[in-house]
Amino acid sequence: MTLEKYTKKRDFAKTPEPKGKVHKKSGAVFIVQKHAASHLHYDFRLELDGVLKSWAVPKGPSYNPHEKHLAVEVEDHPIEYASFEGIIPAGEYGGGTVMLWDSGTWEPIKDPHEGYKKGLLKFELHGKKLKGAWSLVRFKNSSGSKPNWLLVKMDDEFANSISDDDLLESNSVKTGRSLDEIKHGK
Ligand code: MN
Repeated sequence: MTLEKYTKKRDFAKTPEPKGKVHKKSGAVFIVQKHAASHLHYDFRLELDGVLKSWAVPKGPSYNPHEKHLAVEVEDHPIEYASFEGIIPAGEYGGGTVMLWDSGTWEPIKDPHEGYKKGLLKFELHGKKLKGAWSLVRFKNSSGSKPNWLLVKMDDEFANSISDDDLLESNSVKTGRSLDEIKHGK
């Protein structure tokens, strides 16, 4: 695992994002950041092998198992990123406002290394907002630097427990702030 791409994209003299490092001891951190960059999206991150594997989900997660939402795999992020909320300056990579939208732990349902290689990850989320079983499925023939996956809620007792609007419009789990309040430094 390496953070080379992450580090290359950023100027740490200008952005408040953490530089971070690859961790030797592996935990099970799970977070989602709501990111108002050039396009609003939700960054879905799962700790694996000392880094946060990361996907940008333009429509955000949905509790409806019939909603299959595009999740574009992006560069690994450092574990230190899991508590980041704030403003990335305009002109910098990912410039815009970042809200820590959900956080907790995750539990792979099958071997996550095998699953990641095959392009089928199934897992339980123990977040404040996202709970129960979910899956990430990679498109066949999707490779290159930004492989396309689908993020899908699996059918269980949590399925359809909240509407997409109520879910997506909820505030920061870190500070209770809205995107606007974070943007204006309240
Ligand atoms: Mn992002």
